[in-house]
Amino acid sequence: MSETPMRARAVVDLAALRANVRALRARAPRAQLMAVVKADAYGHGAVPCARAARQAGAEWIGTATPQEALALRAAGDTGRLMCWLWTPGGPWREAVEADVDVSVSGLWGIEEVTEAVRACGRPARVQLKIDSGLGRNGCQPADWEKLVAAARDAERAGLIVVTGVWSHFACADEPGHPSIRAQLNVFKDAVAYAERQGLTPEVRHLANSPATLTLPEAHFDLVRTGVAVYGISPAPELGTSEELGLRPVMTLSASLASVKRVPGGHGVSYGHTYTTPGETTLALVPVGYADGIPRAASGTGPVLLGGKWRTVAGRVAMDQFVVDLGGDSAQVGDEVVLFGPGDRGEPTAEDWARATGTIAYEVVTRISARVPRVYV
Ligand code: PLP
Repeated sequence: MSETPMRARAVVDLAALRANVRALRARAPRAQLMAVVKADAYGHGAVPCARAARQAGAEWIGTATPQEALALRAAGDTGRLMCWLWTPGGPWREAVEADVDVSVSGLWGIEEVTEAVRACGRPARVQLKIDSGLGRNGCQPADWEKLVAAARDAERAGLIVVTGVWSHFACADEPGHPSIRAQLNVFKDAVAYAERQGLTPEVRHLANSPATLTLPEAHFDLVRTGVAVYGISPAPELGTSEELGLRPVMTLSASLASVKRVPGGHGVSYGHTYTTPGETTLALVPVGYADGIPRAASGTGPVLLGGKWRTVAGRVAMDQFVVDLGGDSAQVGDEVVLFGPGDRGEPTAEDWARATGTIAYEVVTRISARVPRVYV
């Protein structure tokens, strides 16, 4: 059941998203751009964000799961679309029929995708993934020859078209990390080998947001930008979003549900980890960890209320948390901003990441479906 935005809302600024896409394109002028909208566009809403990214010139949209890609097709997206999280028994036939590029990291993937092709009668668009050093998904370099040979045979048989060769960085958010150079070398060798074997991929790609922002050598034919599309800096070491010329897209706010005077020595929220130091005013913010507010924000999370930053007092509960207004006053219904672009003096998702010991990627992605998204 959807609810009205009265309790809380995540305002998603699609004009900011479009501006971010344009800014990223300018950073990688010779490459195409893939806007990554996995995990419901990092919590921002995949369908409207994909549409806005296309309007701003993104040639590609990327998702993790095939289901995410199919949902975009069902919503009318007709452009180049890739999903990369291979799982056995996935909806590969539907993905092939929907002209979604699928990523394959091993022979089992070639087998399963060619089975799907036999059932639907059109060649699959396949992108081969090399593990250039992330140590996660992708074909080990030692097995690359076999994968390339199998892909080439399947292509000659008319079952697949190899549309891409790609990989993913481990430490692109740490410029100068030795693994970056090592991964570039493995990737270049893998591409060169595949091309010598007669494959002619349309796109070779390696760069995520941090590499797009800091490493032109890694841009190749296409950059896959996720977090930067949402106006978030990939890492504090690379600068704030403002310094990177990006604008945060999501503003999370709520309306105060209660304001009351309490005496000193009053325990606040579960466990009484906070006790009022004297008579004071407590304001109730009606969002909690079920809305994606990290419980780790207990005693640390910053909010803007009445023109000042305040800190979560006591524990974040499932549906609510409290702030201590001290000598200030507030009204039921007053807006409390958890994070946004920062223009009104509110904290940013990057501030929340620092306050809660996580990364800004997680801060926005975990905002749950219970919080209505409002698109502007
Ligand atoms: N490419 C792949 C394969 C990913 O899994 C991700 C996200 O983790 C991205 C690109 C986008 O990364 P970022 O959000 O750092 O731009």
